[in-house]
Amino acid sequence: MIKLNQTHDVSLQSWVESANSLTTDFPIQNLPYAIFKLRDSNQAFRAGVAIGDFIVDMPAAHKAGLFDHKLNAALELLSHDVLNDFMQLGQEIWSAIRLALSGALKQGSKHQSALEACLVLQSDAQYKVPAQIGDYTDFYTSINHATNVGKLFRPDNPLLPNYQWIPIGYHGRSSSIVVSGESFHRPYGQLKAPDQDCPTLAPCKRLDYELEVGIYIGQGNALGQPIPIEESEQHVFGLCLFNDWSARDIQGWEYQPLGPFLSKSFASTVSPWIVTMEALAPYRQAWARPSNHPQPLPYLDSAQHTDSGALDMKLEVLLKTPAMDTAERVGLSNFNQAYWTIAQMVTHHSVNGCNLKAGDFFGSGTQSGTTKDSMGALLEVTEGGKHPITLSNGETRTFLENGDTVILRGWCHIDGMARIGFGECSGTILPPVNRG
Ligand code: CA
Repeated sequence: MIKLNQTHDVSLQSWVESANSLTTDFPIQNLPYAIFKLRDSNQAFRAGVAIGDFIVDMPAAHKAGLFDHKLNAALELLSHDVLNDFMQLGQEIWSAIRLALSGALKQGSKHQSALEACLVLQSDAQYKVPAQIGDYTDFYTSINHATNVGKLFRPDNPLLPNYQWIPIGYHGRSSSIVVSGESFHRPYGQLKAPDQDCPTLAPCKRLDYELEVGIYIGQGNALGQPIPIEESEQHVFGLCLFNDWSARDIQGWEYQPLGPFLSKSFASTVSPWIVTMEALAPYRQAWARPSNHPQPLPYLDSAQHTDSGALDMKLEVLLKTPAMDTAERVGLSNFNQAYWTIAQMVTHHSVNGCNLKAGDFFGSGTQSGTTKDSMGALLEVTEGGKHPITLSNGETRTFLENGDTVILRGWCHIDGMARIGFGECSGTILPPVNRG
């Protein structure tokens, strides 16, 4: 587990004024990575680090000679248009670059004028999915979500018996993962209402969002060599926000016997910024299972994991319909309610010898609390579409309509520590493609 160090010091201030605002997602204590270029330019995509309203153009900062030459080989990798090779380097290097950047960005740094020339406004930037995601696995770590969804399908037996023993997941589709800001068309699929004899091919009528945390793997493991839980977080580069858009009607007809298929693979949205595990160190929390629940098998727990395996990260979902001027909140939950942790996901995924690779991606599964205002999917808020929600302008929704925009936000904040934000993960639904 990463220890607190001088880069977490709450009193650190940056010469980039906007980074010192108490409401910014990107203070000097955060320093998350994205892949960006100037919007509408023919520039190459490359790595940047967020500071206040700006991005540090990392290849430009490297060229300006701001870093120790020992970091040269690592910094070269930040001119690539994906972070995979940098993710493969491991915690020691990521940490050395964080320390160097923190020093160069803090008030009074001798590097200020050289680094000022390397700043790009975030509002001028265009982003892409920051890694070549080889494999994507979606988990199901919120017991509240699993129970809420289970109740809709199996009122007498909402939680299947394996849930409390296995971090349940399925292998997803990585090619349709897009970056925040991209729109997509309402998908077609096979739909079959219970009272219909045969399915029809039609646009999805029950389109939903899922409020999830995304997890990028850093260093991988060799095939056949499981990752012990004590080492699991050394294999995680960082976290983002993730909207696993879901077509509930397609899902309902296809999901048995092998799980979700086309109901999930038409689009999934990631936020552009990856917040490193080091930036999140102040927000780690003790992890415990209620004493009346089965305790995890030994390979899924350790003293260190019990001490600090959870993460206090607020997660918010907002909806903006075409009639609204500003988005409004439709759910607020916390990742510390998850039944399974990041470390348990990594260790369980590799326990059979499965090899994880740099840039592989996990979804945490929809993160829901226990109350109506803390649900991470409309399926739960509306109890399967039975009880529409009423928005502040009087509009109602059971599921998403064309033109609706869904925005996810996430942040960590406790008194006495810097606020670590995740930026935004947004997507808009276009009408289905006209098939004549
Ligand atoms: Ca999901």
